[in-house]
This record gives sequence, structure tokens and C-alpha cells, in this order.
Amino acid sequence: MSDTKIFLQEKDIPRQWYNLAADLPTPLLPPLGPGGKPVTPDMLAPVFPMNLIELEVSTERWIDIPEEILQLLYLWRPTPLYRAHRLEEFLGTPARIYYKNEGVSPPGSHKPNTAIPQAWYNKQFGIQRMTTETGAGQWGSALAFACGLLGLECKVFMVRISYDQKPYRRLMMETWGATCTPSPSEETQAGKQILAKNPDTPGSLGIAISEAIEAAVTDQSGKTRYSLGSVLNHVLLHQSIIGLEAKKQLKKAGEKKVDVVIGCAGGGSNFAGTAFPFVADKIAGAKIDIIPVEPTSCPTMTRAPFAYDHGDTAEMTPLLPMHTLGHSFVPPPIHAGGLRYHGMAPLVSQAIVEGLLAPRAYGQLTCYEAAITWAKTEGFISAPETSHAIAAVIDEAKKAKQEGKEKVILFNWSGHGLMDLTGYESYLRGKLVDYPLPEKEMANSLTAIKGLPKAEARKSGKW
Ligand SMILES: *Cc1c(COP(=O)(O)O)cnc(C)c1O
Repeated sequence: MSDTKIFLQEKDIPRQWYNLAADLPTPLLPPLGPGGKPVTPDMLAPVFPMNLIELEVSTERWIDIPEEILQLLYLWRPTPLYRAHRLEEFLGTPARIYYKNEGVSPPGSHKPNTAIPQAWYNKQFGIQRMTTETGAGQWGSALAFACGLLGLECKVFMVRISYDQKPYRRLMMETWGATCTPSPSEETQAGKQILAKNPDTPGSLGIAISEAIEAAVTDQSGKTRYSLGSVLNHVLLHQSIIGLEAKKQLKKAGEKKVDVVIGCAGGGSNFAGTAFPFVADKIAGAKIDIIPVEPTSCPTMTRAPFAYDHGDTAEMTPLLPMHTLGHSFVPPPIHAGGLRYHGMAPLVSQAIVEGLLAPRAYGQLTCYEAAITWAKTEGFISAPETSHAIAAVIDEAKKAKQEGKEKVILFNWSGHGLMDLTGYESYLRGKLVDYPLPEKEMANSLTAIKGLPKAEARKSGKW
């Protein structure tokens, strides 16, 4: 039997990030500022350090990874590529299933792949304190970890419902030296306004982002900046190390091509990081099915329009061209699977518009069932987010069986679920139900984008 784990040595780690913006057949629409005019880099300067803004707007295909960042990434990278022998056997599929194990990072997900570079670039720029938001707690703990390593202060606004349900994520952040506040909070104007209108709100990522940005831009010392864990171009860029490593490892495993690439998508970063190096191959002519997966209760890619929208609820961010449920979207509290953000990365959204990706949605019962199958075959307990990818992998492997095809399937196992066991508890006790977002609720949250500039869905027509 072939190896279960395919390793790369540290010396073989990719030394450049890959930027899909260089290869998209139709370029991204620009972000828009107040008055509907394209945003200029200096307008972003109160929010992000200029060295990261340069990465955000870059259209260079390859960008060197600074050596000091590589030294920090070596704490857990390169991550192993696994062959899911036991799941294959269980499904009786002729497909060969490979997965990147991003759960081996200290916080337990892919998120430190961008937390480390973001903290490092901020420090280079002379920043001393970073603010951010977190939903399930994976991003907050990743940034807390990175700031801890680099000696920066870190302040995290955590979505209220997760703050209450996930005390251990909060304690991880505090262990790495961060402070964590439930959002909405009384600490910001944005938080106060929302609490005045709706004191019992479970919170949302959109609200927490507003608070974190406000906390950064109102610091008069000029030494605080904000950090976002997904969605933006520079975040997707940092995550490309996953797919670039996977390419080298698949080659080591003797694979000449990949047929299917899958990742779960909340803001789009782990999916993009894994898939974009393969999207480049697809643009160059390779035949690959590339599938981002989301929950039916937050159907951003599969049902929401491509439109200009704010990244946050208080409308502090520029307008981004993306698939969006509307910036006032508050996910249904019954939903226990993560991936709750109202928008989708502009680069992922544009690749969908272009026809390069085939997004898919699953209900949470199917996802938890897949996570249980995974735990009983591959052993690892998956983050609820990751279970969406597993559900799609299982379907693709069954399809390969029906077709009698020896397909190669690659997916990103984005993180472990050891801090998310309350979701498993709800599932195992039979308390979860599927909740496809009702049409009426979607129409309601989409009123938030009425009156905003329209985003033209431009495509080359090749896919
Ligand atoms: C945050 C997170 C996601 C979703 O975020 P993306 O930016 O879409 O990758 C997926 N899986 C895990 C384990 C996460 O922590």
C-alpha cells in the first residue's frame, strides 16, 4: 500500500506565494469608497499597514515570502499531505483521496498561515497593537498566537454567541496574551448602537468587524491596525502555501494530475489557498473540477447575488465586489457549522462569475454525518467548517465509484474540532435540524444592498 503521509522537508517549502489576480481572465472590479469612487491605497492606511496594502493591490503572480516568516512557519509547516486510505476503503471507491492536514498548527487550523505574515508585516511597519474579530474563535486564536510570538498586543472582538458557547477558544487567546471581548460590546460606538436596538443579539461577524475596525482607527497613537482573517486578497495570497505544498507532495506521491479539488468556504481563504494554484492550471487548460462548499443556511455562493457590498454591518469598510447575503445578515442561531460570513472573497467570487468554480451547499446534518464517518475512518475530529468539505469529498468519491473512474481528489482538512465539541454534542443528542435559509429571510437581508452601486458580472465566456 502506498504511504499514508507524504511529507516535505523544510528546505522544500514554497518560497513564494501565488497570486491568482495575475491570471484571472477578467480582472477584479475595484473596491469602492464613499461616493462610489475606487479606493486608493492611502485611504486604507488608517486600517492596514502600507506593506500589507501593497500585497492587497498587487497583481504580481509570484511574491517572495520573507525568510523570517518562513522561520516562524517552520513551527508546523510544511504540513503533511495524507492519503485517506481508510475512507476510500469504507466507501469502496476507486478514487484516490488526498488531504492537507492544516489542523497540525498550534491553534489548530490554516489561519496562522496568514496570521503570522500579517503580524510580521505590521511589526515591520512599527505597529504595536492589532485588533480583530473572531466568529468560532479559530481566527482570534490564530492572531493571538502570531502576536504572542512576535511580541504584539492583540485585541479580539468575539461574536457573542461563540463567546458564550466556546470558553476554551477564549482561554487559548488569553494564554497567548490577547484580550477578548464579546461583540457587540459597549466599548465601541458601533457596538453600542447595535445593543441599543437589539440588546439580545447573538452578534455576527459583520458586527464584530465594525467594532474591531473602529477600535483600530480611533486609537490616537497611530500604533494600532486592524487585521482580517479571510476575504481579502492578501489573506488568500498567504494561504496559497497550502496548495503549493500540496502540488509538490502529490508529485512525490506519483500523481500526474488532479481531477477534483475541494475546500469549505466561509470567507474563502482556506479554499482559495488550496485551490488557486490549481485554478491556474485550469486557466492554462487542465480539466479540473474545483468545488468550494458552504452551508445551506448561509448560501452566499450558491444563492446570493454578485454585488457591491460592505464587509461589515456598520458600513465602515469599502464596497467589495462579491457574492453577498447583505451586510446586515445575522446567521440563524440553530446553525452550528461555522462558515457564517455574509460575503465571499472577491477573488473567489470573480472566479465563480468566470465559471472556473462549481460551488455547492450542504445542510448541517449531512455535514455532521460526514464528520462522524471521517472520525470513524481517518480518526481525526474535524472542525464543523471542515465537515462541509468532507461531505463533498464523500459525494465525489461515490460518483467516481458509479462512473468506475480512478479519480484523484484533493481537499483541505482545514482544522480540528477539538474546541467545537458543543456542536457535536447537539448533533449526537439529536438537537440539530437542517435550516436552509428561507427565501424571505434572504430577501430581507438583501435589502441592505439596495441603493449601492451595481457590480457588473464580467466573464470571458471560456468556462
Ligand atoms: C475559519 C475557518 C474556516 C473558514 O474560513 P475560510 O476563510 O473560508 O477558510 C474553515 N475551516 C476552519 C477550520 C476555520 O477555522
